Amino acid sequence: MELVVSNMPDSLTILKEAAIEGYRSSRERKFDLIHTSLDLSFDYEKRQVKGSAILLLKPYFYDQEVLELDAKDFDISDVWLDESGKTTPLGFSYTPKRVTVYLPRTYSALDTLRIGIKYVAKPDETTEPGGQAITDTKGLYFINPTGTEDKPIQIWTQGETEFSSKWFPTIDSPNERQTHDFKLRVPERFISLSNGKLVDQKTHDDGTRTDHWVMDIPHAPYLSALAIGEFVEIKDTWKDLPVSYYVEEKYAEGAKTVFQHTPEMIGFFSELLGMDFPWQKYDQVVVRDFVSGAMENTTVSIFMEALNLDEREALDSEWDYIIAHELFHQWFGNLVTTESWSNLPLNEAFADYSEYLWFEYKEGKDKADKHHLDAMEQYFSESQEKQVNLIRFQFEDKEDMFDSHSYAKGGRILHMLRKTVGDEAFFASLKYYLKTNAFRSVEVHDLRLAFEHITGQDLNWFFNQWFLDSGHPVLKIDIDDSDKDRQLLTIRQMQDLTTTPLYRLPIKVAIYKDGKREEKTFWMDKRVQQFALENGAGTDLILVDEYMELLAEKQTDRGMEFLINQYQQAQSGLGRLEALDSLTAVFAEAKNWTAEITRALGDSFHEVRGLAVSRIPQVMSQDDVGFEMEKTLVRLAENDPNNEVRSSAITLLGTLNSSKYAPLFARMMEEPSYVVAGGALTALMDMEGEEVKKKETFERLKGEKNIRLVVPLADYLTKVQDSTHSAWFNEKLSLLTGESLYYFIGYYGDYFASVSGTEKKEAIEMLMNLAKDHPANYVRLTAFQSIFGFIDEGNILERVIKINQNETDDLVRSYQEFFLEPYLEGN
Ligand SMILES: [Zn+2]
Repeated sequence: MELVVSNMPDSLTILKEAAIEGYRSSRERKFDLIHTSLDLSFDYEKRQVKGSAILLLKPYFYDQEVLELDAKDFDISDVWLDESGKTTPLGFSYTPKRVTVYLPRTYSALDTLRIGIKYVAKPDETTEPGGQAITDTKGLYFINPTGTEDKPIQIWTQGETEFSSKWFPTIDSPNERQTHDFKLRVPERFISLSNGKLVDQKTHDDGTRTDHWVMDIPHAPYLSALAIGEFVEIKDTWKDLPVSYYVEEKYAEGAKTVFQHTPEMIGFFSELLGMDFPWQKYDQVVVRDFVSGAMENTTVSIFMEALNLDEREALDSEWDYIIAHELFHQWFGNLVTTESWSNLPLNEAFADYSEYLWFEYKEGKDKADKHHLDAMEQYFSESQEKQVNLIRFQFEDKEDMFDSHSYAKGGRILHMLRKTVGDEAFFASLKYYLKTNAFRSVEVHDLRLAFEHITGQDLNWFFNQWFLDSGHPVLKIDIDDSDKDRQLLTIRQMQDLTTTPLYRLPIKVAIYKDGKREEKTFWMDKRVQQFALENGAGTDLILVDEYMELLAEKQTDRGMEFLINQYQQAQSGLGRLEALDSLTAVFAEAKNWTAEITRALGDSFHEVRGLAVSRIPQVMSQDDVGFEMEKTLVRLAENDPNNEVRSSAITLLGTLNSSKYAPLFARMMEEPSYVVAGGALTALMDMEGEEVKKKETFERLKGEKNIRLVVPLADYLTKVQDSTHSAWFNEKLSLLTGESLYYFIGYYGDYFASVSGTEKKEAIEMLMNLAKDHPANYVRLTAFQSIFGFIDEGNILERVIKINQNETDDLVRSYQEFFLEPYLEGN
């Protein structure tokens, strides 16, 4: 009998079919890859990898007669089977993404196969959508391979998500796990770095050397890596664990400072997780032109060149967070690995949260909480554009998973989980999760089960609303204090329930009375709920979610008096910071703020001191500042333990009474910290008059390349309209990189807008080239924007329109259109 099936599906059916088709499953494990041996050499001219691979595998469960391996953009010359000492050539077919090997018989899970493949990998070629335009899918990168550019010759890799198969044939999936040994033939002047241990080195007559790296602890293919180049090694240790930092020679002294906390971090995390660092060694290497911030390859993390700092720059290094992040991945991600990109937060939420844990331990809770708040705001900003499930089984591109949901929201969710179950349960659960899942791939339920095992609680409610759903609570909070001794708290969940859950939330309320703080927790699980605080007589202040633990948008009506009270009493740095921020922004004109600002300048939290300094020009007239406060500012400029606070105090003094403090600024300019010296230089160059001194200072410092000094000098030259310094501007433009270049471009544009003739024309061409070709999108965008300063020259508008049309980054293109819009309407 045959059923008649309608072939006209209704719209609901179409939706449901799309859900099945679009489901991003974990990769089916047909084979288990056990070990890979590679023999690699590199053709720098052609940007190719010549390789020979031996893969040891076995069928995972079901019988197999065909083996599929990821091998992207290869030329494959031979595939063979190595069985009982005999090699047999095998038939294979190849698409640009994978090789299909036809096995001579059916193999069962009891069999082990040894497959050989001889190949040439061509990482610069790509069949990815977007073709050549996509620069971050090469897997292996040749930097200045022919030595013709002004930077070191390097090779490095970036395997995540599935790009290790751009340089060796493998099962390129996070739920695979293998050991490996790599023989890397490199020019003798270079060193090589890879996973595991360097067990042997052999030199050859042709000026090359083969380094043999053995990774004898299994890990996922995307974590395999190499870095080859001229690096110096700075050796360190934690217990018996070798810990090394690799940088270009001129950054060696800086690296000692930048990476100095690594052993302490390893110790802290090992202790916290009840498990020592689980690998053979830990290397950190800084390379050129890296495609992201950093990558946590097992035992060898690779960092972007922003971590290349000289000894003096390193004094203000703020890279601990990224060092902690990659290090924590060695447990969360590398030892216990997400089974699919859908579960990426199991790697990234933990790495993100490690930043909080490190700051909390090393620099105190206030600093950690501010980092937490910044991440929360980053997620809120993204949430205006998109709100998706944290664990996502539907996405266009796996690269879309690397967003502020997986990182910032994920980290905040872990913080809430910790605050919900308590510190002891949280860390006990992490220990249990790591121990039970070591060397395994996991999905989010493994995490839930670990927490349920330890706490004895059913935590589906927490995981469902936060990990498996989208959005966040929007809370309207009202406190009825008509009876001061029996206040009533009303909270409404305002979020759209058609797309967002109704949340179950612990609401922590701090009650301040007679200088003491008491905290009560109320549970919310309804749309609207009212809680009797039972605060009793003499309550001074009630704060809801004082430490901003809840990932929630909160709407409260707080007047000036309340905020002043909050600023004066809140125990949390965040509570004081937020109160001072609102007061000086919303109520700037409402009263004389001398008392509050004075108090804030002495706050124990440096963010509060910094905010107080920065708000002085907005909330006070110069006369209000007065003698006492000026004295305080001088003290902060001289002695504050935080260099940013010092720097803002110095620049503020510059605007108050500049000539009086000229000697102070001159002295501060000699401080080793660029942050402090840069603040002093800004103050000095902003002084009224003193032209001779400024000119002298410029002459003395014009060779400096640190952006903190370059900017005040550039600003000075533009202001004095001295048009004889085009060469200086061009030299800096070619010298600066990354964010420094980004900051400089605006000044560069301003300067040349006031110059005429060929110099101006050349400057326009420089900006055009940056806007067109610079690898960093933010540099392209800011260069594009500065070109508008020259819009009346020649055919500028036509040319920027063309740049806009050729821009491949959607975000950059839409911002460019925003800048273009006013000019197009006029046409
Ligand atoms: Zn990460």
